[in-house]
Amino acid sequence: MDTDYALHPETSSDWADRGVCKGLTHVFFGPAAERPERRVEREAIAAAYCQSCPVMMECRTTARLNREHGFWGCENDEQRAAAGYAPRSPSRRAVVQARDRARRRHMEMESARESIVAAG
Ligand code: SF4
Repeated sequence: MDTDYALHPETSSDWADRGVCKGLTHVFFGPAAERPERRVEREAIAAAYCQSCPVMMECRTTARLNREHGFWGCENDEQRAAAGYAPRSPSRRAVVQARDRARRRHMEMESARESIVAAG
């Protein structure tokens, strides 16, 4: 991608030069106030690139750990939020909702784990 990387300490950008999306920033990052229908179309095109990309997992991991915005590693903001890696400042309601669901699920799992440990 043609972006600067604010890298998480556990990631490296060595993979970025092997991505198939060079020069296609407009496909992976939507404009402000993008219409939902247009976003769906744009992200479908981005996903097609990602699915043929040799560094998809490195890209996805980097975006998750750095809480990125945009389409990375075949995931959009909402999908990263659902996986527990919401962007720092979610820009859409659906992303906030996915983030909150992931947090609730995490808390429920922690609670269940603590109950199991307490029960011995
Ligand atoms: S996985 Fe997608 S966003 Fe990441 S480098 Fe490859 S084409 Fe670009």
